[in-house]
Amino acid sequence: MIAEIVAIGTELLMGQILDTDAQYLSRRLQSLGISVYYHTVVGDNPQRMRDTLALALSRSDIVITTGGLGPTQDDISKEIAAEIMGLAMRFDEASWREIQDYFVRLGRACPQSNRRQAMFAEGARILPNACGTAPGCMLEREGKIVIQLPGPPHELADMFEKQVYGLLAARTGGCIASRYIRIYGLGESDVAQRCAKWIEAQDEVTVAPYCQLGECQLRVTARGESEAQAVEKLMPVVEAICALLGDHVYAVLPTSEGSMEEAAGRALTERGLTVSTAESCTGGLVAARLVNYPGISAALGEAHVTYANEAKIRYCGVSPQTLAAHGAVSEETAREMALGLRARSGADIALATTGIAGPGGGTKEKPVGLVYVACADRHGVLVERLQLSGSRERIRSLAALRALDMIRRAAIRA
Ligand code: ATP
Ligand code: MG
Repeated sequence: MIAEIVAIGTELLMGQILDTDAQYLSRRLQSLGISVYYHTVVGDNPQRMRDTLALALSRSDIVITTGGLGPTQDDISKEIAAEIMGLAMRFDEASWREIQDYFVRLGRACPQSNRRQAMFAEGARILPNACGTAPGCMLEREGKIVIQLPGPPHELADMFEKQVYGLLAARTGGCIASRYIRIYGLGESDVAQRCAKWIEAQDEVTVAPYCQLGECQLRVTARGESEAQAVEKLMPVVEAICALLGDHVYAVLPTSEGSMEEAAGRALTERGLTVSTAESCTGGLVAARLVNYPGISAALGEAHVTYANEAKIRYCGVSPQTLAAHGAVSEETAREMALGLRARSGADIALATTGIAGPGGGTKEKPVGLVYVACADRHGVLVERLQLSGSRERIRSLAALRALDMIRRAAIRA
């Protein structure tokens, strides 16, 4: 089955809001094994909406519209869909009562204009709205399905989960499952090259790469009669890829969410290890990201922002001679920060960052984006020299990501 999502609303076209409804629906349809071939956005204009819906119905089996179910004159999604499907509009008494009840519960008078929200195409399956006034609906004709959902994301999600997902699942009679392999330290093309045999195969198990700031992920997907069966099919591929990429893989997750700080936090807490940080250019970003991980209190002892030289001396015991000879942004200073912090804090792992985040402050020898990240543990200290590029924010984020990965690796080999 092929689906198309048509988001309706001029505010989307004007850039006032982002079409997160389509993102949400696409994810959920994917889990049902329904392919989404098009996302379309159209304003509240009758003719353009007509053209858009007619085109969508000509190329897709299921068309899901979002928005335009409100009581105002520009909310015309239902009328236009009915017209395209060749269905007349009818007033639904039960829906009208529910809308009035909704206003009673809020202690407000129900405007007559809301009567429009109780108008539906004949034969429509009405989808009551538990979170707002606008009911949705589902129309079916000649093998084509139109599902109309409200625009506000929480109303849409509630209606979709409780009233639409089950109906669609019953029709597709299948399930797809995915696992997301999260990778750090390899570029997209490197990952694609190493995993080419799976990416190109596109057979029962599909593998697709996807890259974001500083990291990469591979989505591994399979179809089965049940979710468990689909997972059983894809796991051998996941395991083969993990074996190939080794410790570049920092997590394998059922959704595309999940982060390096989770991986680092888990690696620390599972082994009962402690960590301390001293950050210069990242200004607390590493610590803040670690704190995103619930349960980090068992591992994180202290986190310093040692921005000034004075602070690097006081909290990390960096020698003034080192600072004078090599400068704050140097391999030597980073090393002393990590070693000194580890000794003073007593943590198993000490992490330090120092660098030039820009946009100013760079020199020929030490350009903007030069960052040293040092990690000390019982084996000694590792200092990595990064030459990053981009905005101040990007440089700081990428440096923090590397720092978290170094903590994760240190915890694993501890
Ligand atoms: P209402 O009864 O609130 O008018 P509606 O179904 O008519 O609901 P719209 O008027 O199109 O929906 O949108 C209402 C609000 O919902 C928008 O202002 C916006 O905040 C949110 N919204 C609408 N469409 C989307 C979308 N595609 N993605 C994310 N948010 C959306
Ligand atoms: Mg509206």
